Amino acid sequence: GDMTKLKWSKAPCRFCGTGCGVTVAVKDNKVVATQGDPQAEVNKGLNCVKGYFLSKIMYGSDRLTQPLMRQKNGKYDKDGEFKPVTWNQAFDLMERQFKRVLKEKGPTAIGMFGSGQWTIWEGYAASKLYKAGFRSNNIDPNARHCMASAVTGFMRTFGADEPMGCYDDFEAADAFVLWGSNMAEMHPILWTRVADRRLSAPKTKVAVLSTFTHRSFDLADLPIIFKPQTDLAIMNYIANYLIRNNKVNQDFVNKHTVFKQGVTDIGYGLRPEHPLQKEAKNAGDPNASTPITFEDFAKFVSKYDAAYVTKLSGVSKEHLDRLAELYADPNVKVMSLWTMGFNQHTRGTWANNMIYNLHLLTGKIATPGNSPFSLTGQPSACGTAREVGTFSHRLPADLLVANPKHREHAEEIWKLPAGTIPDKPGYHAVLQNRMLKDGKLNAYWVQVNNNMQAAANLQQEGWPGYRNPDNFVVVSDVYPTVTALAADLILPSAMWVEKEGAYGNAERRTQFWHQLVDAPGEARSDLWQLVEFSKRFKIEEVWPAELIEKQPEVKGKTMFDVLFRNGQVDKFPLKDTNPEYANAEAKAFGFYIQKGLFEEYAMFGRGHGHDLAPFDMYHEARGLRWPVVNGQETRWRYREGSDPYVKAGTGFQFYGNPDGKAVIFALPYEPPAESPDKEYPFWLATGRVLEHWHSGSMTRRVPELYRAVPNAVCFMHPDDAKKLGLRRGVEVEIASRRGKMRTRVETRGRNMPPQGLVFVPWFDASQLINKVTLDATCPISLQTDFKKCAIKITKV
Ligand code: SF4
Repeated sequence: GDMTKLKWSKAPCRFCGTGCGVTVAVKDNKVVATQGDPQAEVNKGLNCVKGYFLSKIMYGSDRLTQPLMRQKNGKYDKDGEFKPVTWNQAFDLMERQFKRVLKEKGPTAIGMFGSGQWTIWEGYAASKLYKAGFRSNNIDPNARHCMASAVTGFMRTFGADEPMGCYDDFEAADAFVLWGSNMAEMHPILWTRVADRRLSAPKTKVAVLSTFTHRSFDLADLPIIFKPQTDLAIMNYIANYLIRNNKVNQDFVNKHTVFKQGVTDIGYGLRPEHPLQKEAKNAGDPNASTPITFEDFAKFVSKYDAAYVTKLSGVSKEHLDRLAELYADPNVKVMSLWTMGFNQHTRGTWANNMIYNLHLLTGKIATPGNSPFSLTGQPSACGTAREVGTFSHRLPADLLVANPKHREHAEEIWKLPAGTIPDKPGYHAVLQNRMLKDGKLNAYWVQVNNNMQAAANLQQEGWPGYRNPDNFVVVSDVYPTVTALAADLILPSAMWVEKEGAYGNAERRTQFWHQLVDAPGEARSDLWQLVEFSKRFKIEEVWPAELIEKQPEVKGKTMFDVLFRNGQVDKFPLKDTNPEYANAEAKAFGFYIQKGLFEEYAMFGRGHGHDLAPFDMYHEARGLRWPVVNGQETRWRYREGSDPYVKAGTGFQFYGNPDGKAVIFALPYEPPAESPDKEYPFWLATGRVLEHWHSGSMTRRVPELYRAVPNAVCFMHPDDAKKLGLRRGVEVEIASRRGKMRTRVETRGRNMPPQGLVFVPWFDASQLINKVTLDATCPISLQTDFKKCAIKITKV
């Protein structure tokens, strides 16, 4: 066709937390092409293979275009078949079910599961609707499976969430250390920046640590395979090495850090029956850790010597020392990078704290190239899931529901009476599945995620809850996922550029896009669904009389009036929207709702270290990294001259903590929740592949990506295969104490596990590895460890 006739607009990529910019071509109300945006700083015109095929993700043949309700004889029936209904019929049923549950059991029996794939205003609206409207904190994002340990790690060490550094560190670092991250497949565009640096600056070193060999090892100067869970011991070895060899930056440590011991603080909603959770008795008390001295810390890590750590981890002293030397050498700027290897860990919070220990002991932090960098999985894990308060224990901008001052602050901004927000953290992801199963969570709404494929221990803890006859489950999605098909009502969603949106990537960069095309059929954005549904409830139906008495003018109003048409969210008129683009949601509500929600949300952070730019600025810029003060973005936080919040003459200020100091924690090695034994002799680690985005619901519908990697396989060592009498391509059953699934053996290719460990990706809806996985969590972050459980393998 004639390319000059195409209209090109900017957007961030729909998939990963890297946050690449793309330009999107539209013709006849259809996205016909995308390309890497040459003006985008993140990717400078490049895309990975998923990004190349962005234009096709919306046009799978089984796209959901109308609400579907389970019915028998023309009436809703939990055991019925899915049949199309109107939005009105769908909302009528939802309204009846939610009101029934609210009346019978109150707000703790309703809940929601969302994700870091919500746009910023969708997550914000959902959080506000549940926490202030329904007065239920039972809302959690699938970021709980992904970033929760990173969050608690940041909060414990720095008192504030998200990285101090940014992607500019890639061009300034002398060494890259990958701790449980396969960037070559999961953050491919950032990996090109590592590779560029490695190949253009000859002294650059790359160390890759993992429990199995993967594609990132291709670039490794220092490849390290360690036994599962022993990364904790390796980090303590390095801390010990720094101290023994006088490589501690004493000046930095004295001025900017404090030492503490305390293994249990900041935990919420614990499952008391889990053995790992028992010790978390100080949960929720930020003062639970106690100060110690540098000498105490030195003594604590001294037992992590070469003999002990080599035995535990299987890593030679020579390799441990070469790794430690990267941190020790004052002339080497180090970027540490991690994702799920650290976060999906029964001690994920500690793992995050312990990597900060190394950067703080050496003062290698918050300067270009010195960067402990938590990579994110989802496109808006940071911008939405974390920042707007979608976790069951959080409110916007790092505030906590358990803190009375924080609740008060949120109620003030929301112009709601004191006491609106309930004070107890709601059910987190793992607990939501448990409560659904136990019949304590009965009206449940799921948006932008596929938790019946993504959650661990599905067979025992997932499906029984969705199919519990006491429960009513609604799933909003774009395709009939495993999760949607387990629900009672399916709502068709608009996706990506079918709506106006905003994401925040891993380097604090907020990026906007316009609505470029119409959604198909009756599909509507998640924002429209949330806000439209709020019209169905009079405030008397969701709030108790005492609360209404405190603000009598809300009487007779709907939740929509009180939360969204409140003089604050609705103050931006339609004429503010760019007439060049469609904006179905703004038109539906009669005001610029996205802008209103964003500007209200921004009130939480402005002046508090999390300043967002004015809404309109983001539609012009290729993303801006917060805090944005006086129109200037911030590349390195906490450092004088770079972060506007740091006072002159201080050098560094970790101002998330009241004393301005970061915490170095003395934390031990602790064994995993489950290890191989006679009956279940193999370790199982799960993860992703380059070609598919998470559960594959979008990428498996792109023919090129589907054909590239059609199905999951079980990567195993050839000697293990031989011992079991298996050949490549043979079908096997993988079984744990919890469930079983079938897949095929792969002994070659991109992953090569050591003997005794297998790797199975989870993108394949036809082979659900999460029937097998264990749902043990970090007791502080409550994030599941998907990287370690015990299985057996048998030929089918
Ligand atoms: Fe970039 Fe991630 Fe999209 Fe690939 S999937 S183009 S790395 S944002």
